This record gives sequence, C-alpha cells and structure tokens, in this order.
Amino acid sequence: MLSDLDIAQQANLKPVEEIANQLGLEEHEWEPYGKDKAKVNLDVMERLKDHKDGRVVLVTSINPTRAGEGKSTVTVGLAQALRARNQDVSVALREPSLGPVMGIKGGATGGGYSQVVPMESINLHFTGDIHAITTANNALSAFIDNHIFQGNTCEIDTRRISWKRVVDLNDRALRDVVVGLGGPKQGVPREDGFNITVASEIMAVLCLATSLADLKERLARMVVAYRADETPVTVKDLGYEGALTLLLKEAFKPNLVQTIEGVPAFIHGGPFANIAHGCNSLIATKMASKLSDYTITEAGFGADLGAEKFLNIKARIGDIHPDAVVIVATLRALKLHGGVAEADLKEENVEAIKRGLVNLEKHMETIEAFGLPFVVALNQFDTDTEKELEYFKNYCEQSDVDYSLTTVWADGGQGGLDLADQVIKTVESNESNFNPLYPLDLTLEKKIETVAKRVYGASGVELTKEAKAQCEAFEKNDWGHLPVCMAKTQYSLSDDPTALGRPRDFTITIRELRPSVGAGFIVVLTGDVLTMPGLPKQPAALKMDVDDDGEALGLF
Ligand code: ADP
Repeated sequence: MLSDLDIAQQANLKPVEEIANQLGLEEHEWEPYGKDKAKVNLDVMERLKDHKDGRVVLVTSINPTRAGEGKSTVTVGLAQALRARNQDVSVALREPSLGPVMGIKGGATGGGYSQVVPMESINLHFTGDIHAITTANNALSAFIDNHIFQGNTCEIDTRRISWKRVVDLNDRALRDVVVGLGGPKQGVPREDGFNITVASEIMAVLCLATSLADLKERLARMVVAYRADETPVTVKDLGYEGALTLLLKEAFKPNLVQTIEGVPAFIHGGPFANIAHGCNSLIATKMASKLSDYTITEAGFGADLGAEKFLNIKARIGDIHPDAVVIVATLRALKLHGGVAEADLKEENVEAIKRGLVNLEKHMETIEAFGLPFVVALNQFDTDTEKELEYFKNYCEQSDVDYSLTTVWADGGQGGLDLADQVIKTVESNESNFNPLYPLDLTLEKKIETVAKRVYGASGVELTKEAKAQCEAFEKNDWGHLPVCMAKTQYSLSDDPTALGRPRDFTITIRELRPSVGAGFIVVLTGDVLTMPGLPKQPAALKMDVDDDGEALGLF
C-alpha cells in the first residue's frame, strides 16, 4: 500500500502561478516561495473589501481516537469533490508543528488522495512562519531579561514572569529551566521554562489578528509578567510591539499551496487546540472566502473544543458566518465510544456502534445550538464492514440526519461527490442562523458555565479556590469581556478522558485561568495541560531519512 508520502510525491503539482491565477490574484498580490508555494500580500483584502464573502463550511468531528478521525483528510477531499462539481472552492488549514511531526501524531496535511502538497515541505519548514514566531517569542524573552538586567524600571517581579521561551519540538527536558546563571554579568537568575512554539500566545495572536495594525495592537496587549502588587506588565509597557510586528510581518501573510487535485489551499498558522483556539489564521479564512465561492476549513479536536472555539472566538472576531458544518465520524471512534478497547476497533461490532452513537448525537445537538445546519460525513476505512455501514445508514435515515459515506482518503474528490452534493444542498437552502452561544458581557464564570452545560452536557461547574480568585482578579483587570478558551481533554465530552460516549450528570472542575489578553481570550484549564509535550519511546523521527537525491523518506 502506498504511504501518504508516496502518494504526495507522485502528485503532479501545478506551478503556483496557476493556482494564484485560478484565484484571480493580481501579479503584485502574491510572491512565489519556490515553484509550488507562495505568500499572498494583504493588499488583496483592501482590493476586495467590498466584495461579498463566499460561503464558509467548517469541518469538525466527534470526540476522536488517538489516531484522529480524518478531519483534514475530509476537508481536502470535500474541497476536491466540490471542484469536481464545478464549484469555485479553496481550503484553509493549519500549519503543522514539528513537535507532533517528529513525535507521534503525524502531519496535518490530510491523507491518502486527499492531501495538500508539497506535503514534505509543509510538514517540515514550509515558508518559515513557525520559525519566525519562535524568534519573535524568544526575542521578547530576551527583552524581558535585558529589561530586568538594565535596572527594571517596570518593576517586574522576577518570580511572577508568565512569558516563557519556546521551541517547536517536543522536548520535555526544557519544561522547567533556570536562566541567568553565571554571575552578575550574565543577568538575573530566575526560573523559566519552554513551551512548544504552537502554544506561544504569539501564534494565537497571529491567528486572530485582522490586519497588520491589529496584529501590533494585540502584541502590545500581551501580558508578560506582574509587579509585586500583582498589576500586569504588558509588551506595550516594555515598548517592543513594533519590533515584534516587524519580525512577524512576512509570517502574517497567508501561504498558498494546492491539493493533490489542484484546488487552492491556504495553510497558515497553527495554534494549539487546548490553551489556544486550534484553527488556521483568521486572515487566511477571510482571504479564502473573499477569493472563492466556497471555503472549506477545519478546527482542531472534536466539536466540543475546536468547533466551539471557532464559533465563539474566531468567527466572532472575524465576523465569519459559517453556512454549514460537516461533522466527521468514523466507525472505529463510534466503537470506542461504545466501549470497545482500542486494540479491537478493527473487529466488526454493530452493537458497539449502536451504543457509541450517543457521542455523535451530542455533537449534532451542539452544532444545532449554534443555529447551524450540518452534514455527518462518515470517513470510511477498509476495515468497515457492510453490516456496520448498513446500520449507520439506517440510523441516519431513521433519525432524519443528513449524512454521507465518504471515501475521499482512498479515492480523492471522486470519493466525496455525494458529500459535496449534500453540502451544496444544505448551504443553498440557507438554513444557517448562526449565533455564538454567549454574549461577551456575561461574567467569565457564566461563560464557562454556558460552554460546560450546553456543549459538554455537564450539570454544572466547580471552580477551585484559585480559579475563583482569578475570575475576580481578571474581572478587576477589565478582562471580563473576553471570550473563554477552554482547555479540556479531547477524548471525552467531560474533563475525564476515560468517560467515553455521552457522559451525563457530571461537573467540570476549573483549576486555573490564564490571560491571553493579546490573543483576546481567557484560557480556562480543566485539568493538567502540557504546553511542552514529550516524545514517545519510539518517535516517528526514527523512521525518517533522506535518500542520496534529497528525497524525503518515512515521513508518514
Ligand atoms: P484529523 O485531522 O482528524 O486529526 P487526519 O485527516 O490528519 O485526521 O488523518 C489522520 C491520519 O489518518 C492520516 O495519516 C490519514 O492518512 C489517516 N486517515 C484518514 N482517513 C483515513 C481513511 N479513511 N483510511 C485510512 N487512513 C485514513
């Protein structure tokens, strides 16, 4: 069987100029990065500012298994299928982080015959955006340490510096470090730590900024530390927002590539889906929707995390009105929610699917609560049996659920024609009545409660003493109007990763809140969230190599 890399390497890529022309970009509006990648200048947004936005379709999923349920694959496959139906369509996806690429999860460019290409470049260094974010983040760390060394006029309490250094790798040894050792000439010793770059607030800022000026304002608002009296110190207090914006000005331009079947694809920004909102940049989604009739985009993890945050945070900031949602499900994930052990998911088990459908039901209710119409896409695997598929079809028909069985992984766009037809039908019937789930003037506690009850199905929330005090302090700092960015396990609707299916009668425990004032949200932690992952015993990197001609080997 061909690997994702084999399939990607056999693809016949069009010159990026052809992709830019398909979108109607003028010559001065894009810059080639080699033959098959380009950056699109922000001028295009000015030219098209009065142009009506195209339709936006959000792809999300049920609570996933560890392997992922194929959201990126279905996003790309659906776009290819819409193209096959003569629609004018683009894809907007996140940029992969090297941590998971080298570690365990794999890339983020889709799979099989529904991939974005050049996949090896996109999965490795691409156009350097993530490196630019690493540099901007670490420049700020250097500015903070230098500020303290040079007399600390902002009166930063060195025990209360919340800004951390970053590297875009899984490197557990760097989680906690001490910097400034070596005597008076080397700086002021203090505890520090590293996060993975995609967990940097700068990544979230870049992904939610609506213009270069807005990028600078958001960077200026980022809180980096506190004084002894606990008042916040921001980037603006230190005066570095200009330098940071300068370091990011190229990275802020969306990247343009293509799918295996030549559909334009914007791959830009990749924030974590736990301590950040988990979607590609707002500017890329907006640009795609100005340039195409349909934009197919994805949000990380399941609908309880990615879609909730896309709809309550990104769509609100960007004034994006999605027209429909595709909820991806797989029979293996339904079996997992029906109580089957991970090792046995390939065995036929109709009874487990029957039990596991409650998880899908909750996600359908959530999307309805946002006022959005949806289509359920069953991403078919070789191991799915006729009996299982028949049961799933009957369930959808009897419950009056719009659904489609898709084989976009195996067949590319041709495997998603029925899904494309369903999406067109849904969008054209104009059923979208989108509204975020809460108004911004609710208190932080009420916003958290709304998400917990309406999205997770919890009966209530419990805040630890620390979280309660933070809620009060944050309201006092005038941050109470911000939306909440929930950090929760992706495996369960609850905060307990082992509670599969549709847990009921549970409360969500809120342990800590963290301000991401620049990004424009308050992170709410329901459990321990690793902002610097570790590598597994056998990292994916062990299989990687490069041949004597420079071709990548073993990259999934
Ligand atoms: P997600 O976006 O939900 O994390 P991806 O689309 O990245 O999932 O897919 C995860 C992995 O699963 C990829 O390696 C992809 O090639 C593989 N995959 C997706 N769909 C299928 C399928 N129908 N059959 C086999 N493998 C698949």
